[in-house]
Amino acid sequence: DRSTDRRFFGHPLALTTVAVTELWERMSFYGMRALLIIFMTAAIQEGGLGLTVAAAGAIYGLYTGSVYFFGLPGGWIADRLIGGQKAVWYGGIIIMIGHIILAIPFKSTFFIGLIFVVLGTGLLKPNVGAMVGELYSTEDKRRDSAYTIYYMGINIGSVIGYMICGYLQTTYGYHYAFGAAAVGMGLGLVFYKYSGHLIDGVSDKPKTPLSDKGIRLAWLIIGTFLVILTLVSSVIYTGTITFDPSVVGENVAYIFAVVFVAYFAYIFFNGNLNYNEKRAMGALFLICIASTCFWSGFEQAGSSLNLFGRDYTQRMWGDFEVPTGWLQSINSYILIGLSPFFAALWINLAKRMIEPSYSIKCAIGLVIMASGFIVMFFASQYAASGLKVSMNWLVATYFLHTVGELCLSPVALSAVSKLSPKRFAGQMMGLFVLTYSMGNIIAGLLAGQFDPSNVKQMPNLYLQIAIFCIVVGVVLIILSVKTGKWEKLAGKAPGTVS
Ligand code: GLN
Repeated sequence: DRSTDRRFFGHPLALTTVAVTELWERMSFYGMRALLIIFMTAAIQEGGLGLTVAAAGAIYGLYTGSVYFFGLPGGWIADRLIGGQKAVWYGGIIIMIGHIILAIPFKSTFFIGLIFVVLGTGLLKPNVGAMVGELYSTEDKRRDSAYTIYYMGINIGSVIGYMICGYLQTTYGYHYAFGAAAVGMGLGLVFYKYSGHLIDGVSDKPKTPLSDKGIRLAWLIIGTFLVILTLVSSVIYTGTITFDPSVVGENVAYIFAVVFVAYFAYIFFNGNLNYNEKRAMGALFLICIASTCFWSGFEQAGSSLNLFGRDYTQRMWGDFEVPTGWLQSINSYILIGLSPFFAALWINLAKRMIEPSYSIKCAIGLVIMASGFIVMFFASQYAASGLKVSMNWLVATYFLHTVGELCLSPVALSAVSKLSPKRFAGQMMGLFVLTYSMGNIIAGLLAGQFDPSNVKQMPNLYLQIAIFCIVVGVVLIILSVKTGKWEKLAGKAPGTVS
């Protein structure tokens, strides 16, 4: 019985099945992601694709955006067709095939590999995230700390990915690094299978299965989609149609936002929700807004902050020159270090009955992340005056970003799992993962606005991000006085009032 199982740091052993599988999936994802831009922009003679920075940046944004967008159909497929367990398994296999294709040193297969990673991650990511919460009953107080452990696993995976793939790339070449990502995902799959008995009964069936006719129709649609995808990619591939990735990127941001609102509204109005479930969904909506704004600032790490690290930061540490890429992993190290502290903090506050609501924690997380950009505002002013600044500026920024991340990201995952109506578990997690997608694309568009050779505009950009996120955060803090009460209604009988 999982409710009394405390074998894994006070948690059911089943948490290892879910967290370790996701750890390896993230190792493969971040390991590959760390090299993606470098690979695309490296000259062909150096083994890269020889794309311009603008094209590579836009493809990168579209790719990361799509990876998370496909969480929505992925969640739906689990809820209505195959259940979360199978979705994670097949998703993992598709991801691994994608990395194997990337490891093949033919330039021509590169985009096909990426498409596999996108589709596989869509199936795996929301469903593995939803499964964590399904190990606990609504009353179980361990849910938040379970998500903190799970989130720590994500970051351990990403650090392993950065280190191993980064090393292999510089020593043996890109395709070995992509190969390592395939091996990582493979290890995750082996662990998932091997420890699968621990999650017996968790999401092993679709929650609201379709009728037989519906099932046939759904597979027909999925099949048609895959055929169209294959045709469109081959047409783009043969060069019959060309497209400008930057233009596509901008439009996709709007499309994703419309899809998000429409899907949310669809569940809200047509999901047969009772009064309490609707209130809880209201609280979740605010959390999704906080999450979107959060990632659009936070994800500057891979782009504008990365360039700032490369061009305007004094990276000597004694005689050693710190590689630019290392600066980004500061986030994961701080996160792993601070996670136990945050887990203890929430438990402590809960014991004193003063634990803030999910909504408030997320809104505060957004404000703390934004304050990191005030640090960058000053740092980039020094840089604009022609100085190379100390690495401590970026360290301070990443510290604030990480503290914000710990208030928001694992907390929001836990909130989604607790506040969503159970029959929509996968789809709601898919919707939440779509906030990553929107955040990543907006981040890309913001970063694309400035040109690294014109450092004078940098302080302004950072100040704008800071002010915007602080204003949204403060509004959300005020609104969360109300939505925090709504959260308490989740899972209660329809007649209960707050
Ligand atoms: N680091 C988190 C994860 O991989 C969040 C990623 C994101 O871009 N929002 O799950």
